[in-house]
This record gives sequence, structure tokens and C-alpha cells, in this order.
Amino acid sequence: EGITITVCGGGNAAHIAAGMFAKNGANVNLFFSFEDEAKRFKEACDKAGGVTVTTKTTSYTGQPKVITADPKTAIEGADLILLIVPAFAHEPILKQIAPFLKKGAFVGAIPGPGAFDLIAINVLGDLIKERDITLFAGTSLPWACRFDEYGCKASLLGEKKRVDINARPNEPERNALLGDKMSRLHDLTDFQCKGNMLTSALWPTNCIIHTGISYGIWHDWDGEPVAEAPLFYQNCNDFTGSVLDGLSNEIGQAVEVLKKAGADLAGWQPIDVYLLDVYGDVISDHSSTAQIFATNDAFRGLKAPVTEVEGGKFVPNFRTRYLTEDLPHGLAVLRGVAEICGVETPMMDKVLLWAQPKIEKEYLVDGKIQGKDIAQSGCPQRFGITTPEQLVNGDIPNSAN
Ligand code: NAD
Repeated sequence: EGITITVCGGGNAAHIAAGMFAKNGANVNLFFSFEDEAKRFKEACDKAGGVTVTTKTTSYTGQPKVITADPKTAIEGADLILLIVPAFAHEPILKQIAPFLKKGAFVGAIPGPGAFDLIAINVLGDLIKERDITLFAGTSLPWACRFDEYGCKASLLGEKKRVDINARPNEPERNALLGDKMSRLHDLTDFQCKGNMLTSALWPTNCIIHTGISYGIWHDWDGEPVAEAPLFYQNCNDFTGSVLDGLSNEIGQAVEVLKKAGADLAGWQPIDVYLLDVYGDVISDHSSTAQIFATNDAFRGLKAPVTEVEGGKFVPNFRTRYLTEDLPHGLAVLRGVAEICGVETPMMDKVLLWAQPKIEKEYLVDGKIQGKDIAQSGCPQRFGITTPEQLVNGDIPNSAN
């Protein structure tokens, strides 16, 4: 059919995308921000004759057409550009690819937390109108996956049946076209494109799960090394459950304000509803948010990040993406949105004020999202946004362009 898609990123998920999309008939370009990574991937992939994806039931190989760190080569002919990387990589990648976007291109991030749209509007500026660019974001990655051999072998451990995406501009025809393009590239996942693009930024997923559970586990830690790494999800108790519910409720209140300001956020779900929707059949106890996490089979055995210290004991490792990604492109953004919506956020404040010093960052200062590190975040305050209407419309007063 000849659609050309450029996948930006070279991690676990990019391996799956390369193999699956090429197998499904697309011309796949892989774009790397780092030359050494591109070289390593290309050598291994060329040698093996493509990326082989192994699922529970089958295995297939797809060959990307282009593997490069040169943005011009990777982007120029692409109809669809998909950033499948941690959120802190969105801005640098957008800066690299912006000059080469073709007219009518779709540019999206999956997952797209932390106001991907604001970051993209800030980087792309007038290009969006001039080249009729459609921005989009996904509420979650459709896969659980990992690469086994860099550049050529990857395992697809789980596939979601449905992933919601949302676009700017939010127009029925564009949405249908995009949903169809995305669904065709994937094997089992149906992509529905609908709603305001804030839906993905406000989705109650890693941004509150990773930060809220970390707080639940370690908020009263006395600094003494522990005998073993705590189970991250299975330990979820009533306290941690109440933290997650609190965070989700505060987002929910902001959602109501944004709806009144004109945003279509009908697809937004609270955390317990979302988890049951996605994992319902592998969760044995549906009775509370705590139990929904503690009894989710998909999360079984996963442990909190720790560092080993003398005597074979452990201390928490806070310098992981659970905080380095999920604060500046997650909880701090949500707190910033809530502030603009006039929503009280006692739980967000508690978690953020506990977490931000753990990574030596300042977002929330004196009750406002105004700390120095918002400059490297998706917080709407960074862009001078002060009203719910500006959020709804992606209207950025302090644009870099
Ligand atoms: P990954 O860590 O394997 O991806 C890393 C890649 O990101 C690198 O190879 C590099 O190409 C790119 N990158 C990192 N920093 C960069 C920077 N500063 N500039 C440019 N590029 C940079 O991640 P993944 O496992 O492929 O996951 C991608 C996203 O999906 C992440 O947000 C992750 O949280 C999410 N996710 C992954 C899984 C999974 O099963 N792998 C499941 C759910 C969600």
C-alpha cells in the first residue's frame, strides 16, 4: 500500500514497531538521535535480514527500509512519524526532525504523556499550520515488550486490544483516517482516535502510578537499608491505594473544568476504571484500587527500583524514570493543569513535594508550579498558559517560535 512511517527511537518498543509495521506492508524508516545507536542497529539488522518479533504464538520478521541518524533521510518522505521513546526524548527529537516534515504529515507520540502537544506546538510553531501537520498522542503503549538481541530480535509479551489516541486538530475525518492508519500497522490493537489531545496528557497511568506507588512505599522510610527490594505493585496497601485514588480524583476535577471550557474529554477514565478495562481479566480482586494493583497478574513479581549496599541490603533508587520521566512529563504537568483549572490538589502536592527533592528538581514552589526546572518539562506554566481555554486549544502565549 506504500505508506511510509518513520519510527523515532531505538529501544524495546522501536524493535517491535520496526518488525511489525514492515511485516504489515509499510515502508519503515528508523530514526535515531544518536549516531552510534543507529550504526549498531543497522549492522545487526542488515546482518540478520530484519527484526524478528516473537510473540507467545508466532514469530515474524520485518525489514526496515532506512536506518539512520540523519533526520533528512529519515523524515522527508514520511506520512506518519511515531515517537516511541521516554517522554524526555520528545523535545530533542522534535527539534531534530522539524525542518524535514512533509506537508500533511501526522506526528505522534505513543505513549504521549506530559503534554506532548504543548511541547510539540512550542517546537514546531508556525510549521504546524504551514505544513498542515496533525499532532497526536496515545494514552499508552500497545505492547509489553523487550529486545533480546539489539537490532534484530525482540519479544512481544503482551498486546492491548484497544488504545485510544487523540489529535490536534481534533476533526472527525482526520481522526478516522489516523485511527485507520494506526490500526492497519498493528496486528491486534484497534486505535480509536477521538477527543481533545489533553486526554493523553491527563491519562491516569505511569505519571501517577509510578510516582504515587513510590510515595506509598517510601514516604516514611527511615533511611536504613532494607533486607530486600519491596514488590512494587503487589505491596499496594490501603494507604497507597488512597494516594492513587487521591491523585486520580484531582485529575478528574481538572477534567470537569476543562470540559466546561469546551474540551471533549468524554474518553477520560479514573484510575480504577482504566485498570479494570485493560487488565480486568487478570485482576482477581476488583474491590478497591489497592486490590486492583495488588492482585494484577500482569504486575506480579515487579520490584521497586533499589541499589545494593554493603551487607547485601538495599536502598531505594530514586533516579529512575519513575521520577525522572514521570515528574517533569507527568505529575508536575498534572499539578500545573490543576492549578490553571483552580482545582485544590492536596495529594498531588504531598507526592510532588516528597518526590522532587529526590531527583534534585524544583517544580512546585510556594504552592505554585514555578520552580526553575519547569523549563525542562511539559508544565503549561513554562509556556505562559494561564487559562483552561488556552489548554483546551493548545494556545501557547510564550511560544519559542
Ligand atoms: P527504551 O528505554 O528501550 O527506549 C530508549 C530509546 O529512547 C533509546 O534507544 C533512544 O533511541 C531513545 N532516547 C532516549 N533518550 C533520548 C534522548 N534524550 N534523545 C533522543 N532519544 C532518546 O524504552 P521502550 O521500552 O522502548 O519504551 C518506550 C516508551 O514506552 C517509554 O516511555 C516507556 O515508558 C513506554 N512503555 C514501555 C513498555 C515496554 O514494555 N517496553 C511498556 C509500557 C510503556
